Amino acid sequence: MTVYTLPELPYAYDALEPYIDEQTMRLHHDKHHLGYVNGANTALDKLAKAREAGDFAAVKAVSRDLAFHVAGHINHVIFWENMGPNGGGTPSGDLAQQINKDFGSFDKFKGHFSAASAQAEGSGWGILGWCPQAEQLLVFQAENHQNFSPRGVRPLLLLDVWEHAYYLRYQNRRAEYIESWWNVVNWENVAQRFADATTIKGYETR
Ligand code: MN
Repeated sequence: MTVYTLPELPYAYDALEPYIDEQTMRLHHDKHHLGYVNGANTALDKLAKAREAGDFAAVKAVSRDLAFHVAGHINHVIFWENMGPNGGGTPSGDLAQQINKDFGSFDKFKGHFSAASAQAEGSGWGILGWCPQAEQLLVFQAENHQNFSPRGVRPLLLLDVWEHAYYLRYQNRRAEYIESWWNVVNWENVAQRFADATTIKGYETR
């Protein structure tokens, strides 16, 4: 079953140099991300077979696999699009205004997001999301790909802080990687995601 597929990177593997190196991008996209795509499809296969056989003994473990791999896949799709070769700087327009409203200033947001990313324990993510119920931006962390992420919050900007995302160039210097990463953020993509997310109102059922 091929429900999930690996999209091409929206730019060349070396497009984010010198901040993120080509070898890291090749391994990260072609091997790690592909692994999550395959893992998600495998989990769906196992669940289909379990329904067919009427044997749900493994449903707990496979459900965990499904959550891990689907979240890993979706996180990476957004992460690739969140970056670009002409990135960096600061956001503008409605997104900039919302960041100022919810975090005080761009610099305060940047400090908060960087700290959340730096302090994610083990493998995880820093995430900026839009909460339709509160009508405000939230910064949070994920451990692995899926844990500790509040329900219903639309991710706008993700930063992968698994070691595979930075170890070849930055080794254990995660904070240096995070500081470099701000130079490749594609704010136009984040602003588009924000515009889409804010069309969801309150507790609408979608
Ligand atoms: Mn990754």
